Amino acid sequence: MKEQLLTKKILNWYDLNKRSLPWRKNVSHQKRQYYTLISEFMLQQTQVVTVIPYFNRFIKNIPSLEILAKFPNKKLIKLWEGLGYYSRARNLKKTAQIIIKDFNGNLPDNFEDLKSLPGIGNYTASAILAIVFNKPYIPLDGNIERVLKRYLYLKKDRDIQKDNLNQKKSIFGISSRSSDYAQALMELGALICKPTNFLCNQCPISKNCQSFKKNDFEIKKKVKKKVDKYFLLKVYKRDQRYLLIKNTKFNFLKNLTIFPMEELFKPKNFNKNLNFKISNMNMNIKIQYSRNSREFQSPYWVDEKKLDNYMLPSFTKKIVKYLKKN
Ligand code: SF4
Repeated sequence: MKEQLLTKKILNWYDLNKRSLPWRKNVSHQKRQYYTLISEFMLQQTQVVTVIPYFNRFIKNIPSLEILAKFPNKKLIKLWEGLGYYSRARNLKKTAQIIIKDFNGNLPDNFEDLKSLPGIGNYTASAILAIVFNKPYIPLDGNIERVLKRYLYLKKDRDIQKDNLNQKKSIFGISSRSSDYAQALMELGALICKPTNFLCNQCPISKNCQSFKKNDFEIKKKVKKKVDKYFLLKVYKRDQRYLLIKNTKFNFLKNLTIFPMEELFKPKNFNKNLNFKISNMNMNIKIQYSRNSREFQSPYWVDEKKLDNYMLPSFTKKIVKYLKKN
């Protein structure tokens, strides 16, 4: 009974307050599948406000799954440029090809088949099942996780383990409007139960919220330790052009254009020039200017003045900008 009331309160709030997002447009079921697939891939690791213009441009250029399946890789990466985590774009295309070949052009409507597709894990599969197929799944994204932790005041290490959170989310109950409900919970976290400046006075579930009662809103997070790694980055410069290569060596920025680099293990007296945080890595980079570029087969020479004309990851662009200044 309590859960049903909670569900109702959240849905009522959502109906009045939901944002109008391009992937929430009223479209055919076929388009809903496609829009949800694209937006959920883009939203992995990226905020809604950042995704909106990318989503609009993507849909304009690639309006259907069929077109995506045949879309040239280079152009696809160009459309993704700036969103980062480029493996998502490659997986998206592979997924489109498999859906057309093995699933008759329709997204599968069960967890196992969805999870067999490249780039789709537990979270994305749950989101698709809820949003597209109106199945009673609650995808535990960062927003829902925050609402859950605050609502139940989950602070202990064992309480904030993923398995436990996945069990505890049953507190939210289920609704016959599963599609709206999953989005309503995400929206509540995004607009009301925000990491900071949370708006408890506008929150539809404040009455039974434990954090609100205790006036303690701090979120306990599992500490993900970033691993320190060290790289020697080689700069070959000719006129105003830099030598770049296709990265087939490292798992990060795979197949993208980067400066030649080598990883150093436990280097002594390492004076870094640059630092990047990429996925779980704290990347320390030392720059070394070099002369002999003959060891590289089919390098790319990139003009520092025409940086925007190239299809480069922001990692590489930032390094070029650093080199120009220093
Ligand atoms: S009352 Fe405040 S802390 Fe509790 S769920 Fe609502 S916004 Fe979050």
